[in-house]
Formats: sequence, structure tokens, C-alpha cells
Amino acid sequence: MSQSILLLAHVDESGATLPRAAYEALGAALDVAKQLGQPLTIGLIGDNIESAANSVAAAGAQKIFAVSGPDFAQARYATDAAAAEAICRAASAEIVIAPATSRFLRVLPGLAHRLKGCADTHLTSIEVIAGKPTVTRWFYRQRLEAVVQRDARPWILLLDTGCHPAWTGTPGAADVQTIAVTVPPEAKRTVVTGVRSPKSDAQTIRPDAKLLFVAGAGWTKKQPDGKTHVPEAEALILDFLRGSGASLGGSKSLVDQSGENQAVLGFMTHLNQVGQTGSTPRHPKGLSTCCHGEEPHVVGWRFVNERRAVNLDPNCGWARGKADVLYVADAFQVIARLNSLFSSKS
Ligand SMILES: Cc1cc2nc3c(=O)[nH]c(=O)nc-3n(C[C@H](O)[C@H](O)[C@H](O)COP(=O)(O)OP(=O)(O)OC[C@H]3O[C@@H](n4cnc5c(N)ncnc54)[C@H](O)[C@@H]3O)c2cc1C
Repeated sequence: MSQSILLLAHVDESGATLPRAAYEALGAALDVAKQLGQPLTIGLIGDNIESAANSVAAAGAQKIFAVSGPDFAQARYATDAAAAEAICRAASAEIVIAPATSRFLRVLPGLAHRLKGCADTHLTSIEVIAGKPTVTRWFYRQRLEAVVQRDARPWILLLDTGCHPAWTGTPGAADVQTIAVTVPPEAKRTVVTGVRSPKSDAQTIRPDAKLLFVAGAGWTKKQPDGKTHVPEAEALILDFLRGSGASLGGSKSLVDQSGENQAVLGFMTHLNQVGQTGSTPRHPKGLSTCCHGEEPHVVGWRFVNERRAVNLDPNCGWARGKADVLYVADAFQVIARLNSLFSSKS
């Protein structure tokens, strides 16, 4: 059975390259193509795709299709869907692998409907089992892992970031076949006029960081001297983030305090919350501080490979098999010491 494979991507905000997630999806698509013995086609969308196309010229794709021009610069459902549809039809794609960027997550399930196919999102792996493309994704807050195969084609697969090594190669001169897509005026009614980010996530949530630093409610609680030390906690945490380049996570108790008019860390929002009702970030290492390590929180650490925690309480949740190393210590002192090591290093 022929199973034509298409890697579909859009250029990143700079317009000069692809988002990192697209190179990861390309790595996965090449593996699948090799295992199925099928050629790979690449499809690109953006204003000017030349430099992005050149960046994947050495990946060994049989063809590179593109829909380009100013109409396709912005993330916009109508134009992105039209471009993606034209590429899928030109490539007669049966398996479409794409990065799970926010731009594509909004568009590609609709594309599947247009093509009378199926889409699966938030995939954590794509491989070939017994000659069939097979994907995995998590359900019920990362507690159940599903392994999915489908007969429906085209099958559109959105791969989450951090799940496959990114393809790398020397840029070359790409031979691109441009597909002309005429966009009616009504498809251009939506215009992106700017990006407004929540006040803190831009600086503190760093999905590519090697370390996840989690702050718990203990940072705002009374300390052994009977007083709270919130301004000191804020300064220590921000210094640590600057010195280490870590991404900042928070426990639910800590992020909820901002809604309850309690003493809060000003830069902590619900976007930072890790856990059952928060996020499940992917980082090679994690350091938890002043956080008890209860199950609804720790379930969010599923994809953090090496876990360490600092807690005053030797009987906290981390001590019960949830961390590789627990430092029974005062996090104020530990982080102050680490910050002074960072500054002496720099
Ligand atoms: C349905 C449901 C969903 C939930 N979802 C989530 C979720 O998504 N994420 C989440 O985080 N929680 C979630 N929770 C809540 C979770 O069960 C805990 O209540 C919460 O994680 C506790 O937060 P914490 O550990 O920061 O605070 P606390 O339990 O108050 O712990 C503070 C810790 O700080 C330590 N400490 C204090 N001072 C210091 C110091 N100087 N040095 C070192 N340690 C110190 C204390 O020993 C203590 O262990 C959920 C609960 C339910 C019921």
C-alpha cells in the first residue's frame, strides 16, 4: 500500500527559518519515511519561504512544495487552511506530519475535515509498527497513554515539541515548486495587529530550558523566624532564573494565592502551574523548592527526567519516591548560595 508522507511546516515569526518544532517533526517524518520505504515530501507556508526551504534542502525530500506570499505571512485560519489544503492535494499526501505549533493546532484539524481525513493532536511519538504508522498521546492528564493506528487517510499528525530529536543539516539550494493559491478578500478579513502576552510568561516560561525550576507555596509562608519573606523570595527566584536560564513552574497553591489577595510572587501566573490541573512540561532536569510534592502536582513532572527537591520537611512527598534527590534544607539558603556561585562564575 502506498503511504505518501508529507512534512508540513510554516516559517517562524522571523520569516527566515522554521520553528524548532518543525525540525523535530522533520526528524520524525524522515524516520517514518525510511521505515515505510517511502519518499518524503516537504510543504512550506509563509511570506518568503526561500531561506527556510534552503535550511531543509539537505534533508533528502523528493519534492518541496510551497505556498508563499504576503497573504500567508500571518497566522490566520482561512489562508493557512487554503495553503495547507493546496499542498496536501498537490502532494497526494496520505500521512501528513506537522509540528504542534499554536498556528497549526488551530488549523490542521479543520484541514482534515476539508480533506475528509482525520487529525490527531499532541502526539508524543510517531513510529512504524508492523508496517503501519503508529502514534502515541496521553489522556486524563498524562495518566493514560494511548497507542493509535488509523485506516483513515489523509491522516494528519501534530507532533508535540520536545518529543523527537530535531533534524539538523547544512543549508543548501532548495528546488521549490510553488503552488499558486488565490485568496478571496473574505479570507483576509482577519488581521493580526499585534501580540499581547500575559505579564510574565514571556520571560519565565522557557520550554527549551534544560532545567525546570518549580517554586511552591513555602516561599510565601512564615519562615523559622515567624515572619514571611516574600520580597526576598522574589529576588532570589528571579536571580536564580537569570543565572541558570531555567524555566519557572509553580505549584497550584502558590499560583492560586494571586487570586486570593495573599502575599504573592508578582511574576507567577496560572500559566506557570505544573500538575494535574496545570501543565506537563518537558525538561531534562527539574528542581523543586518549597513545594510539598503531592501527587496532583508531581503528575506534572512525568516528562522531567531527573528530579531534585529542596524542602525543610524530610517527610514531604518528594521523599516518598517522587524525587531522585531530596535536599532537606532551607531553600532560601540553598538558592542564595547557588546565586552567589552563578555570580562568581560570570
Ligand atoms: C483535583 C486537584 C487538582 C490539583 N492540581 C494541582 C496542580 O495542577 N498543581 C499543583 O501544584 N497542585 C495541584 N493540586 C494541589 C496539590 O494537591 C497541593 O495542594 C499543592 O500542590 C500544594 O502546593 P505546595 O506544595 O506549593 O504547598 P504546601 O503544601 O503548602 O507546601 C509548602 C512546602 O514548602 C516547604 N517549605 C516551607 N518553607 C521552606 C523553606 N524555607 N525551605 C524549603 N522548604 C520549605 C514546606 O515544608 C512544605 O512542604 C491539585 C489538587 C486537587 C485536589
